[in-house]
Amino acid sequence: MRTIPLKYGADADMNNYDVIIAGCGVAGLYGAYNLSRSLKVLILSKMELTLCNSSLAQGGIAGVYESPEDSPEKHKQDTFVAGGFENDPVSTDVLVNEAKIDIAKIIELGVDFDKLPNGDYHRTLEGGHGMHRIFHHKDATGAEIENTLLKNVQQLENVTIWENAVMCDCKKTASGFSFLVLKDGEYTVCNSRCAVFATGGIGRVYEYTTNSAIATGDGITMAYNMGAEIKNLSYIQFHPTAFNNRHTRECFLISEAVRGEGAYLKNCDGERFMQNYDKRLELAPRDVVSHSIIFESKKTGSDKFYLDITHKDPDFIKRRFPMIYSNLLKAGYDMTTDMIPIFPCQHYLMGGIKVDTYARTTVDGLYACGECSCTGVHGNNRLASNSLLEALVFSRRAAADISEKLKNRGKAFMPYDFDFCENAPHIPSGLRTEIRKIMQTAYFVIPDIPALFAGYERIIHIKEILDTGRFRIDKDYVEARSLATVAYIILGEAYKIASENAELTPQPAFDAPEENKKD
Ligand SMILES: Cc1cc2nc3c(=O)[nH]c(=O)nc-3n(C[C@H](O)[C@H](O)[C@H](O)COP(=O)(O)OP(=O)(O)OC[C@H]3O[C@@H](n4cnc5c(N)ncnc54)[C@H](O)[C@@H]3O)c2cc1C
Repeated sequence: MRTIPLKYGADADMNNYDVIIAGCGVAGLYGAYNLSRSLKVLILSKMELTLCNSSLAQGGIAGVYESPEDSPEKHKQDTFVAGGFENDPVSTDVLVNEAKIDIAKIIELGVDFDKLPNGDYHRTLEGGHGMHRIFHHKDATGAEIENTLLKNVQQLENVTIWENAVMCDCKKTASGFSFLVLKDGEYTVCNSRCAVFATGGIGRVYEYTTNSAIATGDGITMAYNMGAEIKNLSYIQFHPTAFNNRHTRECFLISEAVRGEGAYLKNCDGERFMQNYDKRLELAPRDVVSHSIIFESKKTGSDKFYLDITHKDPDFIKRRFPMIYSNLLKAGYDMTTDMIPIFPCQHYLMGGIKVDTYARTTVDGLYACGECSCTGVHGNNRLASNSLLEALVFSRRAAADISEKLKNRGKAFMPYDFDFCENAPHIPSGLRTEIRKIMQTAYFVIPDIPALFAGYERIIHIKEILDTGRFRIDKDYVEARSLATVAYIILGEAYKIASENAELTPQPAFDAPEENKKD
């Protein structure tokens, strides 16, 4: 065992920052942009700068901006209905009322939303929205916002961005936080007064997900290990219409906006079926549509489902959905003439690191924003296109709070002494695959209770192996530990919920940890 040498001396001040932001998606970038220019800021990006969920967002960003026929109140109502009225009313008020500030701001920064011939913005419709209020850039809105923000942040002199820089660990210190970062094969310790986790979702804990490769829950895990409160991690959204290609982990999403523009859902017999489940038909919220597909598949005995937009004008389809059209064409489907095979898959996390309306976690100086955070705005099911908005609104508010807090800089930096085993072995192979299989079986759209109990027992053991073993601290280890921790918390919450429902609950054959036996 040895102490990791600092690549640069801490007293040389080189690796000391006012703020370190883990995450270079929309939440991390917009947070950095809104921080006071007097603060020295470092952004960490685990892989390439634009490899993140933000870049994958297709449909758009919801918000009431320059549309007199709509109102924040209506937006709030739709958000509540989709979220099963479990939404936090205070943070949801902030979200819908401040949408106009951030939509205006990103337009000013250069985001190019689609417009109508009369110059007004084209607002599209998505499931669960009662009004056309989704601003979009064709069908690649996330990439447009991510690239625009990146361009703006790269010009800021007070901000440094590190690409391919893995946050391996983060510890609370007397002066703030110490980060252990693995960049270009070298370990570096960086210190900050405040820390912002904007590390995105947890999709990679499933066998099939729409999420990008970075979505392994690293920030949630490190916040959990620092003692931050984690909330509603079992509130997972399964998108009903992922392209049904069970050959790759990352499933290509067929945006909600395709249904918004009139596509039908059809079963294995080519028949529409949503009328048997919900009067909003194809435009019911995502959880309702995903559940309906699973019920329908039990009824028909088939997992073959389709999205059909062939009745619409082919030129309109190609113009409105150029990215989806060309991706499907590459996979052998022409969406103007062919029905698109779809099936639900993991898509989004409503829960996360619990934060208040300024994105403050329960650990002093630690902030969380974007998908890794739980502001409570989504309730138990996110309304389509509310997450890019949440990432913008709450990262801006975090930046305002941090800028105020750091007007009086604190004491000298006191770095944490990270240690590690120099010749430690690589993690055992197969653990990540096993975790994903357990999650896919036990906790998909409708939880499988016996599989949940058996899976939880195994996850407890895997987590223990990773937490207590002396393994080489590299990206594989960090991600495996995160997947195990996230699976442990999700299944732990689900275990508690299942335990409350006596009818559904077989007695577990193992002794669950005390914390999960409590109410
Ligand atoms: C296919 C798809 C379509 C979507 N469509 C929409 C839509 O139309 N509208 C909408 O509102 N939402 C949509 N969403 C959801 C939305 O895109 C995300 O919730 C949002 O972009 C998350 O932003 P973020 O900044 O929190 O995380 P991300 O954009 O995922 O960024 C996470 C960042 O954290 C970094 N990171 C993670 N771990 C580490 C680590 N250990 N060390 C260093 N860096 C780390 C990553 O490198 C990355 O830079 C969609 C999501 C997907 C997957």
